[in-house]
Amino acid sequence: MAKLIYEFSEGNMSMRDLLGGKGANLAEMTRLGLPVPPGFTLTTVACHEYQQTHALSESLLQELDQALDHLSQMTHKQFNGTSQPLLVSVRSGAAISMPGMMDTILNIGLNDQTVTALATLTHNERFAYDSYRRLLAMFGNVVYGIEEATFDQVLTAAKQAHGYQSDLELTAADLKQIVTAFKAIYQQAGKGEFPQSPKDQLLAAINAVFESWNNHRAQVYRQQNHISESLGTAVNVQEMVFGNAGDRSGTGVAFTRNPATGEKKVFGEYLLNAQGEDVVAGIRTPQSIEVLQAEMPVIYDQLMTIAEKLENHYQDMQDLEFTIENGQLFLLQARDGKRTPYAAVKIAVDQVAEGLITKAQALLRVSPESVSAMLHPEFDPAVLAQQTPLTTGLPASPGAATGQAYFTAEDAKQAADNGTKVVLIRQDTSPEDIDGMIVSQAIVTSRGGMTSHAAVVARGMGATGVVGAHEITVDYAAKVAKVGDQVISEGDWVSVDGTSGELYLGQIKTTSAGVKGELSVLLDWAKDVAQMGVYTNADTPQDFQKALDFGADGIGLTRTEHMFFKPERLVQMRRLILAEDAQGRAEPLAQLLQMQQEDFYQLYKLAGDKEVTIRLLDPPLHEFLPHDEEEIQAVAQQIHLAPEKLRERTSALKELNPMLGHRGDRLAVTFPDIYQMQVKAIMKAVIRLHDEGLEVHPHIMIPLTDSRSEMAWVRQLVTDEIDTMVAESDLHLKYAVGTMMEMPRACVTADQVAEVSDFFSFGTNDLTQLTFGYSRDDVGSFMPEYIKQGILPADPFQTVDIEGVGALMEIAIEKGRQTKPTLPIGVCGEVGGDPASINFFNAIGITYVSCSPYRVPVARLAAAQAAL
Ligand code: ADP
Ligand code: MG
Ligand code: MG
Repeated sequence: MAKLIYEFSEGNMSMRDLLGGKGANLAEMTRLGLPVPPGFTLTTVACHEYQQTHALSESLLQELDQALDHLSQMTHKQFNGTSQPLLVSVRSGAAISMPGMMDTILNIGLNDQTVTALATLTHNERFAYDSYRRLLAMFGNVVYGIEEATFDQVLTAAKQAHGYQSDLELTAADLKQIVTAFKAIYQQAGKGEFPQSPKDQLLAAINAVFESWNNHRAQVYRQQNHISESLGTAVNVQEMVFGNAGDRSGTGVAFTRNPATGEKKVFGEYLLNAQGEDVVAGIRTPQSIEVLQAEMPVIYDQLMTIAEKLENHYQDMQDLEFTIENGQLFLLQARDGKRTPYAAVKIAVDQVAEGLITKAQALLRVSPESVSAMLHPEFDPAVLAQQTPLTTGLPASPGAATGQAYFTAEDAKQAADNGTKVVLIRQDTSPEDIDGMIVSQAIVTSRGGMTSHAAVVARGMGATGVVGAHEITVDYAAKVAKVGDQVISEGDWVSVDGTSGELYLGQIKTTSAGVKGELSVLLDWAKDVAQMGVYTNADTPQDFQKALDFGADGIGLTRTEHMFFKPERLVQMRRLILAEDAQGRAEPLAQLLQMQQEDFYQLYKLAGDKEVTIRLLDPPLHEFLPHDEEEIQAVAQQIHLAPEKLRERTSALKELNPMLGHRGDRLAVTFPDIYQMQVKAIMKAVIRLHDEGLEVHPHIMIPLTDSRSEMAWVRQLVTDEIDTMVAESDLHLKYAVGTMMEMPRACVTADQVAEVSDFFSFGTNDLTQLTFGYSRDDVGSFMPEYIKQGILPADPFQTVDIEGVGALMEIAIEKGRQTKPTLPIGVCGEVGGDPASINFFNAIGITYVSCSPYRVPVARLAAAQAAL
């Protein structure tokens, strides 16, 4: 029979799956000799067993009795003991940390007898009853589902009645009354007496934690973070230590480095005379850890030493929970700390410099998507300089966000579902608010510190966060927030700067951030490691420049059609398409030639010795034509054509299925002069640059190829044009003419297609469209349902469909390289910038991916991770 309970001294950090993250780390810290109150862990296997029957098994109960006996021996305390009562916490902890998502109960073992025993023992009646009322509230909430607010109301009423500002002013007598009132809440809720037997309390708490695996907010969190439902949670039972035992006691959290900025300096917060979640719940605004240095220097030094030891041991930034009981320090938790994307990158790069981790480890520490978050906009400094902030709080999670104000998670969710950009403003947040927080651009709270729930969640999600902006008061009933006499009503625009902690009224313009500092260092390492190149899709020098700034290796796709949509060019394009004969086409072609030449010249010049892949015209011609009567009239006038004639031509070019119609290389076959013009423009640009001393090797790409013979035909057209141009100059030219691979037929005959292609580039948008038979412009009507129903694991236009589209790609790669073993093969669809897809592309031997400029840094990191 499998062992279902491990004492902390029996486990270690490698046993996460079995003991959960919290349990494994409590065991590891115990092993390291750190001051951890003793306890034991009920394993995730016990949780699985429980989920089958919703009851604790006989064997588990037996092991539990043994573990409790041993805990009694170690602590010299007993359940129900009248001189040395044993109190424990019951703490959930899954293999993957789920902050604030599961339930914890403190002070189990207190009852009407042991509370007096505790009072006598500690000479502190106030403390004993404070602990008891906390147990009653947590137990009532977690085990019986009585709303926390029901208990809070009693507490608030008591404070008001006595005119107290804070919980700390409550006396022992007050707390006794509150305990009585809390017990009455159990009665009113129909739950009967609060169970007096410590053992019954413990069993009920364990049951409740196992049940909590399936509560709503845990499910939402798992869904959001792609955590498997089948993991289960462990339960930790641990001797209590008391941060609420007086002024030489307290509770706090510390990060071994700053989780917002990554600065190498212990960052933490604590509250004296407080217990458990008081710091994180944001109920009282805590003190910075630096104050502890003055208040309790010995404890502070001990904490710093432990922080360093743990970071070196785990080789990563740690998030620690600690409690001080009467001047003695205890550690209650360690885990890898959540951090902002900025901090993640800085910490990883710093730790390499410190010799703590390798470059490869650093590259794996940062998620590619968080790189994308770092490229998110910042407020335009020029605009910001002219604004006065409404108020300032703590900069909990950097970024800049503008949105409409909402004050409850529910309202925020509803507004976001309707497409509104939401900023959630609250006094504080709790795990119940998770639905609304996920959809918010920014989260602002008036209470709580840098480690409050709101701050931790915002950082985890990469949302902008400002907390502890204490000038704000929120009136939930009236749906307004106030700062002095300034009012923010529901739906008002506000702007939040998570880097400075400032809140502004109205919308502020944002500018894009760049790749700089540590990110640039990390991405350089990525380049050294990656096997694939990362190119960009760019049609304009501006886009290309952006991509180059982001570290692109070249252009994998220039869509020349976009160049024809500028107004002065559209006219020529229309004249070209509508001309009656070759003579009528000559003039607009000459005009377009001039303009295209300049386009290509600019791109090549920017590229220097980097590759630029230019795709010849792809879309159906009718995309360039006017569609409604008004446009027809205007265009007719512009190009001096009779409206009837224009109407006739337009309807002749109209197609039922334009995306499967007269487009791509099919245009080359029917209107060869367009492709000839484009090649000529490329060559003129190349010759001009040659004269200026820059050697360019043009890469020309043919769209929509489906057979060898078709590719051979178009290739001939292209190379004839090149040869003619070369003959007229003194150029020794290297060039490549390749094909898009976007037709299933081309993929399965790739060995033949490769005979006449110098490279392949998968156009995954069209390939996916044609493999599934989904019109990519119309998938919106059913795709969401397919994903919701689990028919598709993900949108195949965003993450490559490995089984289908991926299989075709593998066939094409294998066959293509049968013909040409070193054939370069790229990917230039949307999925070229998707980390999961990039991992697959690396595995099947893709040479490079090409994606939009803003995805380039993401792809660079993903390509490195794929290679590691
Ligand atoms: P979470 O998973 O939400 O962080 P924890 O199990 O860590 O929940 O418990 C929350 C807090 O309760 C801890 O940060 C700690 O302050 C307090 N706590 C838990 N166990 C004990 C204990 N044995 N003694 C004192 N405080 C405890
Ligand atoms: Mg904790
Ligand atoms: Mg295509």
